[in-house]
Amino acid sequence: MLLPGLLSGTKGVLSDLMELWFTENQTNDLKLSCRITRTLHREKTEFQDLAVVDTVEYGRMLVLDGAIQTTVKDEFVYHEMIAHVPMLAHPAPEKVLVIGGGDGGTVREILKHPGVREVTLVEIDRRVIEVSRDLLPETSCGLGDPRVNIRIEDGIKYVKETRRAYDVIIVDSSDPIGPAVGLFSYDFYKAVFEALADDGMFVAQTESPFLNQNLIRQVYADISKAFPVAKLYLAPVPTYPGGLWSFTAGSKVYDPAEPRDVGEKRPEDLETRYYTREVHRAAFVLPPFVAELLRP
Ligand code: SAM
Repeated sequence: MLLPGLLSGTKGVLSDLMELWFTENQTNDLKLSCRITRTLHREKTEFQDLAVVDTVEYGRMLVLDGAIQTTVKDEFVYHEMIAHVPMLAHPAPEKVLVIGGGDGGTVREILKHPGVREVTLVEIDRRVIEVSRDLLPETSCGLGDPRVNIRIEDGIKYVKETRRAYDVIIVDSSDPIGPAVGLFSYDFYKAVFEALADDGMFVAQTESPFLNQNLIRQVYADISKAFPVAKLYLAPVPTYPGGLWSFTAGSKVYDPAEPRDVGEKRPEDLETRYYTREVHRAAFVLPPFVAELLRP
C-alpha cells in the first residue's frame, strides 16, 4: 500500500524496479527520506495516522502522523537513555509510570532493573500498542510482563488524578502536536511533581537542540519552576530531526546526573548497547550552544 503524500515512486536503474521512499517533513524546509521495501501497516486511528514500514537503512520503523517514532536500528539509544538515567539516578525505584511509550521500548528497559515491582504504561492510543506488539516484537517484548499494567487513557488526566505514588515517571511522548501538546506544559509538570513520591524523579523527551530551541528553553524554565532540581541531557538519535536529542529531568531530591550503585543494581550489570555509567555522566556535559538555551 502506498502512503499518499509520504511515499513517492521513481523509476530505478532497471526499468521494472520501482524505488519506494518514505519522507518525513522534519520542518517546512527539511526532509529526511528513507528507502523502504514495504509498508506493513497503515491506518487512521482515533488519534493519529499510524504506519509501519520496513526501511533499508534503519530496519522496521513506526511512524505517527508522518513523524518517525522509533526504528529497530537506532531505538536502543533513545530507550536506554530515557529509562536508565532516572532508574539509576534514583536509589530504589520500585513503582514506575510511563506516559506515552506505546511501542514498549521504554518499558523493556525499565524491566531490566531487578527492584522494579510495578510499571504502569498510560498510552492514549490503543492501536499503537496493538500494532507494536504485532509488528515490532523486539521493542514491545516487555509489554506482556506481569509487572506491567497497561492503561489506555490520556496521560495528562491520569497524572492529575494521582498523588505521591511513583518513584520514577518517564514521559515518552510524541512531538508536541495533537494529544501530546499538554505534555509540554507547566501545569503538567506540576501534576507530575504531585504524582511522584517525596524523593521521586521524572524525565521527559524534549526534542532537538538544533530545531526546537524555543521549546527547550520553555520546557527547562517550566521544569525548573516545578522542581528543585532540573537538568537537561543529550543523546544522538540519527532518525530524529537534527540527529541530537534532548531529555529534561526534574527531581525532588537526587541529582539525575549521578548514577548509583545499590546492591546488585550497578550500571555495569545492565545489558545495554549505549548506556554506561560514563555515558550517563557525559550526557549531562552540555556544549555551550545548548547550555545557553538554559540560562534564565
Ligand atoms: N520515542 C518517540 C519519539 O520521541 O518520537 C515517542 C514514541 S511513543 C510511540 C509516543 C506515544 O505517545 C504515542 O504512541 C502517542 O499515542 C502517545 N501519546 C501522545 N499524547 C499522549 C497523551 N496525552 N497521553 C498518553 N499518551 C500519549
